[in-house]
Amino acid sequence: MMEGNPIWFNDPLGDSITPNSVAEVNNFRTFVNGRITTTQQQIRTINNQINAVSTQLNQLPNGGFTNPNAIMQRRSLNLRLNQLNSQRNDRQRDLTELQTALAELNTLVTSTSPIFYEMSPQAQPGINRIVYNNSTNRIEIKYFQGNRGLQGHELHHAFQFDQGELDFGPPAANSLTPNIWGGGNLYDISDEVSAYQRGYALGRRLFNSYQDINTNNISNMPRYNGLPAGPLSVRTSGADVERALGRQLTRNRVIWNNTYSNQPIRQFIQDVNNVQNNNYSRIR
Ligand SMILES: [Zn+2]
Repeated sequence: MMEGNPIWFNDPLGDSITPNSVAEVNNFRTFVNGRITTTQQQIRTINNQINAVSTQLNQLPNGGFTNPNAIMQRRSLNLRLNQLNSQRNDRQRDLTELQTALAELNTLVTSTSPIFYEMSPQAQPGINRIVYNNSTNRIEIKYFQGNRGLQGHELHHAFQFDQGELDFGPPAANSLTPNIWGGGNLYDISDEVSAYQRGYALGRRLFNSYQDINTNNISNMPRYNGLPAGPLSVRTSGADVERALGRQLTRNRVIWNNTYSNQPIRQFIQDVNNVQNNNYSRIR
């Protein structure tokens, strides 16, 4: 199969991304780069506005501290300055998120992990999720086509997996799709907080600010009901994972720390598969 597909074999993007995903990688990069340019322009505009308000403040008459009109004016200018500073902070956060999104995508594309990442834009909305397909050894990243906020959200989950911040586990024994694995023991609210923040930077403004995308507000979304706050990762001790989940794991407790710090993720997945626990939820 690989020999029959020269794009796969000579894939300049690296062989951790499936051939079908190459176009989506490029689309995403183009989109993010465009948004970086726009955001930089917004920051320049805000800087100019801040300078203008500062100049106005400096030009207030000496009576600015005693004259009632000047006091009012000073107060209103300071208020405006605070708003502008807060806007600038948010746009700078956008910029950081956007640049990080490109760096993370690069990490996935050049990953030496034996796992393949497949991006699948969907024609229907509401199919945004990331799963591990045990029969193809692929991480399937699905999102409503053209929605780069959703794509960025799911891509960030893929990066979290690559970094050992979350894992996948097998579905319940009676599942109709036994090869499709959902979120494992390390999947937690903190994974979602940063994924929503990433989506926000990419234009999915479901919240009013970065501050609003926090553990409390994400926990309150019904789809994430029951997830531990986290953060849990392969570096968290087994005892701490159990404490966070409020239940025992039947396999050796230490698989989440020392054993996996230098192991391929593939090995990690296989061993997690052996954990007798079907309490997994979908990563969305
Ligand atoms: Zn998510």
